[in-house]
Amino acid sequence: MVFELRPGSLFYIAGTVVHGFGRGSKQLGIPTANLDTYTVSQLPSSVANGIYFGWAKVDEHRVAKTVVSIGWNPYFKNSTRSVEAHLMRTFQEDFYDSVLHLLLLKYHRPERDFYNLNDLIECIQDDIRQATDYLNQPEPSRLKDTPWFSASATSTENGMP
Ligand code: ADP
Ligand code: MG
Repeated sequence: MVFELRPGSLFYIAGTVVHGFGRGSKQLGIPTANLDTYTVSQLPSSVANGIYFGWAKVDEHRVAKTVVSIGWNPYFKNSTRSVEAHLMRTFQEDFYDSVLHLLLLKYHRPERDFYNLNDLIECIQDDIRQATDYLNQPEPSRLKDTPWFSASATSTENGMP
């Protein structure tokens, strides 16, 4: 099932990368950078849980394709939400405590329960393939040049005259 976000309803979110709840995403080859709980608590409740496609920028690295999961956070007994972004790029080092800027363009699917790990991994790999196809299209591709990301680059120069 694929829902398109309505025009104008794409959204931006930026926060600090914190430690997740050690579900071993990295061991599965799909590390997810978790945003801090304060930032996540600012998300309007009208934002649906599920899987989104978009663009991500961390520190001075180039903008990367991303698959983002918004859902309930089991660590807090599902009383708060979590936002986790898998960036489709290889990083030499972890980037905990960095500021992560996200632009979410497309709602892809709701969350699902999985009965076994293989199904989960296959589904995520399929999400990643579809995200690649979607983001390579001209319109979504152009949006990676949003001023939102250039502003994030200059904001590391805080204190400059
Ligand atoms: P945690 O449970 O702490 O979130 P993960 O196994 O999900 O641990 O790994 C996430 C961390 O891995 C991120 O916070 C980030 O520092 C690092 N990382 C390295 N490469 C990536 C990537 N391509 N996408 C997302 N996070 C990455
Ligand atoms: Mg994670």
